[in-house]
Amino acid sequence: MTARTHDLAAITAYGYVVLTQPARMVTVTTALIAVVANQIGGIAPDIDQPTAPFWRNLPVGGYLGKLIDKMLGGHRFITHSLIGLVIFGVGFRALLDLLHPIMPAMDIHIVWWAFIIGMISHLVMDTFTKEGVPWLLPIPFKFGLPPVKSLRVTTGKWVEKSFFIGLLAVGLWYSSSHYTQLVNVFHHIK
Ligand SMILES: [Zn+2]
Repeated sequence: MTARTHDLAAITAYGYVVLTQPARMVTVTTALIAVVANQIGGIAPDIDQPTAPFWRNLPVGGYLGKLIDKMLGGHRFITHSLIGLVIFGVGFRALLDLLHPIMPAMDIHIVWWAFIIGMISHLVMDTFTKEGVPWLLPIPFKFGLPPVKSLRVTTGKWVEKSFFIGLLAVGLWYSSSHYTQLVNVFHHIK
């Protein structure tokens, strides 16, 4: 799927989780970093793709992307699995622990979950594509939904575009039907 669909899926999943939990007080710093972490988590698995926007924006990105691609075993490999999720989760937690002394207003727990939810949404979305996702690596089987490959989404094609619009519609419907909770969440940002 394209980065745009992943961004939307990540924020929709995160919004859903936030609205279904009892609202708690967070600082502006936490709220902002959580959204950024969620978006990074939402595209993080695609660092194994040399043409990913993630790499295209770096000066030596093309070359570095290819190198990382080889190291990670090619597209849709380790970063698209539960093992990858654990590795990224542990790594991101270590990074947050490192940043905490200089950003004491940041709630590590909330930011970490925002990242993880973004990353899980990525794997779930990719499961709907033709290539599938090797969830259970090292078991080399790529899972896909629906199980019949021809019914799945081809990245960038009209089915993905309708997926995007559908997701957007569901997100808007959900947030408007939970308007009071949504306002309440914003009232908990101090
Ligand atoms: Zn992917």
